[in-house]
This record gives sequence, structure tokens and C-alpha cells, in this order.
Amino acid sequence: METDYDLITIGAGSGGVAASRRAAAHGAKVLIVEGDRVGGTCVIRGCVPKKLMMYAAGFAQVFREAEGFGWKEVGGRFDMAHWAGAKAAEIDRLEGIYRQLLEGSGVARESGWARLVAPGEVEVDGRRFRAPRILLATGGSPARDAFPGLEQAMTSNEVLDLAEVPQSLLVIGGGFIAVEFASIFAGLGVKVTLAYRDVLPLRGFDADLRRRLADALAARGVTLAAGVGFAELHRVAGGFELSRIDGSVIGAAAVLNATGRRPNTKGLGLEALGVATDRAGAVVVDADSRSSVPGVWAIGDLTNRRNLTPVAIAEGRAFADTEFGGAPVRVDHRVVAAAVFTDPPIGTVGLTEEQAAAQGPVDVYESEFRPMKTAFSGGQQRAYMKLLVDGLSGRVLGAHMLGADAPEIVQSLSVALTCGATKRDFDRTIAVHPTAAEEFVLMREPARRLL
Ligand code: NDP
Repeated sequence: METDYDLITIGAGSGGVAASRRAAAHGAKVLIVEGDRVGGTCVIRGCVPKKLMMYAAGFAQVFREAEGFGWKEVGGRFDMAHWAGAKAAEIDRLEGIYRQLLEGSGVARESGWARLVAPGEVEVDGRRFRAPRILLATGGSPARDAFPGLEQAMTSNEVLDLAEVPQSLLVIGGGFIAVEFASIFAGLGVKVTLAYRDVLPLRGFDADLRRRLADALAARGVTLAAGVGFAELHRVAGGFELSRIDGSVIGAAAVLNATGRRPNTKGLGLEALGVATDRAGAVVVDADSRSSVPGVWAIGDLTNRRNLTPVAIAEGRAFADTEFGGAPVRVDHRVVAAAVFTDPPIGTVGLTEEQAAAQGPVDVYESEFRPMKTAFSGGQQRAYMKLLVDGLSGRVLGAHMLGADAPEIVQSLSVALTCGATKRDFDRTIAVHPTAAEEFVLMREPARRLL
């Protein structure tokens, strides 16, 4: 038996690292085990490289707008290999920072794949480590089995490592990952088809955002193949063909599978210890992230609550503060802002119109306009904003935006919603002018009242 610890964390992604560092700050002796790179999905193969690719794609639009402002001879050719090299260097740098942060916090690290072998005991490549508390933070990975042949497609892992822009791209799925990459590759000049089985993308989002995003993607040149399920993906000369259940076939040089993600439980030894999982394979936890087995906690995508990096971090810190800091903390999953980095992007927090209407009377405030910069440069893209207000208490229940800077704007608004702000609070807030964000405090009359 090797060294004893107060906590063993399995998985050095955003959640595991945050929990381990916080526990160490409270004086705990912590070991973190990771079989892959330090930083997890978000840093290595998710949010960060995706946003770097989104920035690259955004220049095409900036060049177009620049011409409207009088700039001449802007533009050029995108060299994806250059981007890929710079991106790899940046991810190496960030991984280095994550490693340093762990070291600087006094967290011990082991490389290898960990497995629970007994209560309070973990095996890593034949070596055993012991701790009274074990935190599972192994995240998720792309699902590849929605229909036959799909395993041949790229996932978000591989698409972020491309060094060459494909001639055409078929994106399968209508969630966060699907719409973000459809938008990015359209920005890079690729002929993109986005195929999803629902009538609109982004199931679960406010319907007005969903409709407007579909329109905006179509206006960007993305072909929307909506409302039909999928039968099989075949490899053909020069690329792939997707057969749909209505008999139609869609061809493309490259295919991105974005049909969701699954919790990473394989090889963790959950069955041996009797750690309960649900039908989606996620570890079942209570409000304090305790699993069904005493001494084992789980956070982040592995638990399939809100699969977002900041939520995993909050869950990890709440666990550490509760268990080692002597201050019980619980994450409130009700008001969680989220962003979708399409062009235009989405920022959203709180209830959708459908959810709000199910709770009682709701006043719906809306604003839609062509932002100053777009109008001046001759662009057509519009911004859309919506506030959902409780018809009885006046409390703002939801804030939604599709338009430039929406994620940045909604991040600030989420503070107000977390504090329980009312529409009167929005009304007495003085605008910052000229901005797009000021529209959120200038909406006077409801567009409609739902009883
Ligand atoms: P999502 O759950 O968002 O979307 C999955 C998509 O795949 C849906 O459109 C779903 O369709 C479709 N799908 C699932 N199964 C099938 C099937 N059998 N046949 C056809 N279509 C299918 O998953 P993503 O992979 O896009 O993202 C995973 C998670 O990662 C998200 O939940 C999000 O929390 C996180 N993420 C966050 C980002 C951000 O914060 N900006 C960016 C990227 C990811 P349907 O709706 O019809 O079920």
C-alpha cells in the first residue's frame, strides 16, 4: 500500500483540479490521478481550442465589415496549419499552467488510469493508494453509436486537431457542439450542412432563440437538413454519405458527429463498489455530490447535471469547502447562465418562455434590431433580446440574447438574476450608451402577456 491521503481525486479536468486545489488550501493532503493530459476536455479538446477556432473564423466577417467602414484590400487566405500549430502551443502553455497550479497548491499527481478497488482504495497501474474520501471527476466523451457507421465520423476531439479546412462538412446533431462547429466552419468558407432530427436546433433553449439561430445559420450559408432522423453513415469515394430515414442521402467530404456526450465511467470500478449509475450511465449523486457509496463523491459531466465547465468547478469547490473547509456549501443549479458560441452567439440565463409560462402569468419583453456596427457596414445580422418577467412578483425569470457579445452581456445579467432582480430594478438602471446591452434596461412595454 502506498502513501495515505485525505482525498484522492480521479480526473484532472476543470472540476477535479478546482476541487483538489481547494481541498489542499483547506489543509488536506490530496492526490490527483489523470491518465491523459492535465486540463481535461475544456482546456485540451473543448471550450478553449473551440474558442480559438471561433476567433479564427470570425475574421472573415470582420474583413467584410471593415470594407463597409472604408478599409481597402482587407482579407486573405486562412492557413489552418498555422492556426493548428499556434493552437497546439497555446494548449501546451495552458496545460503547463494547470500543472503548476496543482504543484503550487501542494497537490500530488500520478499519471495513469485509476480504478476503485475497495472502499477508500484506488489502484493506478498496479499501485494502490488510500484515502477516506474519493472524488470522481472523469468527465465525459463523445457518443459514437447513435446509428450504424457513425463511428467513422470525426468528433469534437478530432475536428479541433484538423490542420486543413475540409472542402465540405456535414455536421450531425443539433446541440451546442453541432451548431458551434457548423457556424465556425461556415465562417472559414466551408460548405456546411447541419443535419438534426428535431425541427429546430438547440432543443431545450428558448424557442425564439432556436428559430432565430436557425435563420442566422441559414443566412450564413449553412444548409439546414432538419426534421428527419438518421439511418446510416457510409464511406464513399471522396468522403461520406448519410442516409436518412426518409430515404434521402446527404454527401460531404468530412463528417462531424455531434450527437451528444457520455459520462466516462468505463474502467473506474464503479460496479465493484456498487456506485449507482443512471440510465445515461451518469453517477447518481445527491445535492452535495455524494454517490450511493459512503466516501465516494462525483462532480461534473460524470454526473450529467449541467454539463458546463463552471458548474463542474463550482461543484468541486463546494465539495472541498463542505468536506475540508468546515463550511457546508451547495451549488444552486437553478440559475446557470450558458453561452453558445455561434456567429451570432447566444447568451441565456434562467427560464425559457415555455418554462416561465408553466409557472404562472408572465410578461414577455422583447427587442430586435440591427446593431449600429452592422447597419453601418451594410450587414443584415440582427440582435434579439428577451426578458421574461413574473406577472405577479415582477421578478425577472429569464434573460435571453442572440447577437454580438451576447455571452459577455448575459454573464453580467446573470448576477442580477442570481440576486432576484425585478423588472423595476432593470427599469431604474441607467443605460450605458451607445451599447447593444442597454436595450436590456430600456424595454418599456411587454410584447405579450401569457396568463
Ligand atoms: P447536446 O446534448 O447539446 O446535443 C446532442 C445532439 O445530438 C442533439 O441535437 C440531439 O438531438 C442529437 N442526438 C442525440 N442522439 C441522437 C440520435 N440517436 N440520433 C440523432 N440525433 C441525436 O450535446 P453536445 O454533444 O452538442 O454537447 C455536449 C455537452 O457539452 C452539452 O450538453 C453542453 O453542456 C456542453 N457544451 C457546452 C458548450 C458551451 O458551453 N458553449 C459548447 C459545447 C458543449 P435531439 O435534440 O433531437 O435529442
